[in-house]
Amino acid sequence: MNFIRPNIRHMHGYSFGEQPADPTVIKLNTNEHALPPSPAVAAALARFDTADLRRYPEPTALPLRRRLADLHDLDTRQVIATRGGDELLRLLFTTCIAPDNAFGMITPGYSLYTTLARIADSRIIEYSLTAPTYDLPADLASRMNDDGIRFTCIVNPHAPSGRLYARDTIQRFLDEFRGLVLLDEAYADFVSPQHAWNSPPLLAEHDNLVILRSLSKGYALAGLRVGYGLGQADLIDTLVSKTRDSYNLDAIAQCLALAALDDQTHARASWETVRQARESLRDRLQQLGFQIPASETNFLLARLPAHLTNLTAQAVYQALKARGILVRWFDQPDIRDALRITVGNAEENARLLATLQTILHDDTE
Ligand SMILES: *Cc1c(COP(=O)(O)O)cnc(C)c1O
Repeated sequence: MNFIRPNIRHMHGYSFGEQPADPTVIKLNTNEHALPPSPAVAAALARFDTADLRRYPEPTALPLRRRLADLHDLDTRQVIATRGGDELLRLLFTTCIAPDNAFGMITPGYSLYTTLARIADSRIIEYSLTAPTYDLPADLASRMNDDGIRFTCIVNPHAPSGRLYARDTIQRFLDEFRGLVLLDEAYADFVSPQHAWNSPPLLAEHDNLVILRSLSKGYALAGLRVGYGLGQADLIDTLVSKTRDSYNLDAIAQCLALAALDDQTHARASWETVRQARESLRDRLQQLGFQIPASETNFLLARLPAHLTNLTAQAVYQALKARGILVRWFDQPDIRDALRITVGNAEENARLLATLQTILHDDTE
């Protein structure tokens, strides 16, 4: 007897980055923020009255949505608060994609998209980007239109390369593509201010756009599970009132997310700290011979020095792991020769660099 739908039976589950129990491990593998969240979050948690847990939380997280609407200069009806950005992705598949509809998977990208497309029983058509720039091909939208793609996700800044696509590129794609686009901005908080990156105004001109944001990365709250979506009021309202689980965000999560968002001073300073650490880590890794595209996120995609012919990225990943440092290595075409390294705090980055130096040096002897 097997009660499991065939598409689920035949799929692989999402592969998580490792979350080791050992607290001394240096974790540079899942793009968590290098610094703790705002002290305002700790204060809000201390003030939280557990007697209130007797009641159900605010059903649609209205105060949080109002705050987010203010932050992005949108209407509250254009904002949905979700259990991590991941829940927003799941809701879009549930709400917009019927079985057999085609999903356009841009690779390399966030592999959860594929997992969710398989759960939804979509047809998946892959579109490969080319290393090392991972540019979006100019004809991508027309190819997707020809293939009948109903839904695609563009992660910007791009993961796992960290590069930022220009506003023109995104706009041109939205103009041309006839399906729905989820613009995944999980890392947008780390974009350097000189780019003046601000996508929500695009919603006024493009009705096929939904924007994903997350508090996991920029607000150092991956453990809290809060993200949100921005889009057209009618689509967002459908997610909020029909396909979302009632009470998808618990009372503590709503309260702490508001506290974090209210402390924009802390958030902005933390993003600047990460940017500076990112640039200095990139310089030092380049001095070791790694090839690294410019990143606008809190991680770097580091390709192995060309002269190390007998050392693979997988071997370096394992050697780092044996020395208590976790980075991410993907067994996937095109990025098998690279490591994705989260920008850590000053001490973690220094340990990483010293350890890498030892590993590379041992190898050349
Ligand atoms: C982290 C991440 C998300 C969202 O993560 P949540 O923790 O669920 O908010 C979405 N897309 C990408 C590419 C990510 O890296």
